[in-house]
Amino acid sequence: MVVDPGCAKSVQDFLDARGYHLSGILITHHHMDHVGGIDALLGKAKKDLPVYGPASGRIAQINRPVREGDTVDVHCLVAKVLEVPGHTLDHIAYVIELKDTMNSEEVWMFPGDTLFSGGCGRLFEGSPQQMFESLQKLNQFPANTRVHCAHEYTESNMRFSRAYAPDSKKIEDRESEVRRIREQGLSTIPTTLETERLSNLFINAANPIEFKQIREAKDKF
Ligand SMILES: [Zn+2]
Repeated sequence: MVVDPGCAKSVQDFLDARGYHLSGILITHHHMDHVGGIDALLGKAKKDLPVYGPASGRIAQINRPVREGDTVDVHCLVAKVLEVPGHTLDHIAYVIELKDTMNSEEVWMFPGDTLFSGGCGRLFEGSPQQMFESLQKLNQFPANTRVHCAHEYTESNMRFSRAYAPDSKKIEDRESEVRRIREQGLSTIPTTLETERLSNLFINAANPIEFKQIREAKDKF
């Protein structure tokens, strides 16, 4: 299954290289860089392939509309749907909670454009209050949660965070780490909630007013 295929070719190349067949698509919100590949991926199998996404009716290809608290079967795993308005009003996130035989928990999160490493999505539709609450909702999961956000914006997010909070050693450390990772041509995603709790200004905002100040400063940066 694929989350937010903005482009079909990279997904199809990945599937072909491994001999995989696509069995479903999960969508977080309607922006073209998240849905642009759906039609080409559906291709001939259009009728059979489940396409999960917001129940708002904005995305024509969605045939399995989902809402807060719904679950999606991802083969032997179950993804829980969270409504996280802010970037768009009908934005959703998917969270898969795994328990191994030792009962230690692992969580995989797909927050779309709500939470980024070192940042969060722009408020195209929602209010600062809504986005603040959505980030709090995502931040309730365990520290080791793997956060598969939809964009590699970490480097510019940390550049902003350094300028906004120049005295924070944790932000300075994260910025250096991110620069090293990117210089090697590697991705900083997935990140973890632990990393974000240490170095993400947006997820750590104390209240909606503080969140709004940081978001506005980033918009102008
Ligand atoms: Zn978006």
